[in-house]
Amino acid sequence: MSSEFDSQREQMVRDQVEARHISDPHVLQAMRSVPRHEFVRLDMLDHAYSDNALPIGMEQTISQPYIVAYMLEQLALTGTETVLEVGTGSGYQTALLSLLVKEVISIERQQPLAEQAAQVLDRLGYDNIVIHAGDGSQGVRDMAPFDAIIVSAAAPSIPSMLMAQLADGGRMILPVGDRHHQYLEKVTRVGNSWHIEQLISVVFVPLLGKQGFGHHEQKSERG
Ligand code: SAH
Repeated sequence: MSSEFDSQREQMVRDQVEARHISDPHVLQAMRSVPRHEFVRLDMLDHAYSDNALPIGMEQTISQPYIVAYMLEQLALTGTETVLEVGTGSGYQTALLSLLVKEVISIERQQPLAEQAAQVLDRLGYDNIVIHAGDGSQGVRDMAPFDAIIVSAAAPSIPSMLMAQLADGGRMILPVGDRHHQYLEKVTRVGNSWHIEQLISVVFVPLLGKQGFGHHEQKSERG
């Protein structure tokens, strides 16, 4: 069974990631190493390496492999960074980050998901990760500044508290838009200016919380 997953994973990296021009060798290596099937629900095992997002419970999803690879590559990680991840979800991307940086601080709003991800990551031996349960739209002030921030849920606008927690020279990537359609944006901090670049079109679940979408807010998109 495990060699079956190994070959599916190799195929995923080749056909979904390399074929779409992701070339950072560390990102590719990490994707070849992290067992994505350990982070999906049992009833989704057959789809663990397929080219899409999958449900992980509590109305959340594990992101599509290509999008995860794209976001990680954009952060241009060198291995020395302290990184904040907002929206731990399954913990899959957290495991990739663990291999790419010095320390990962990850925050998840839904306690049961945070606990489950922490358990899987611990069982698999990833040991440079601290998982918090709470509202990550406000960042994790105690542990700031961060060399990189990656947000796995869509924000209506770039949370100012996350911008403030970015180190000088730091990079942040996040989906920004309405509840149904967003663009990935990359924010680079240089001193006290923040450069913003709009990248590809994406669809993520909403970032809830103080600097995200309101819990009960209805759609507010323009026409
Ligand atoms: N990278 C994860 C993506 C999970 S989906 C994976 O591949 O598994 C996005 C996650 O963001 C969900 O688990 C959701 O609960 C979480 N989330 C939404 N708003 C949040 C907030 N304000 N703070 C922390 N996590 C949040």
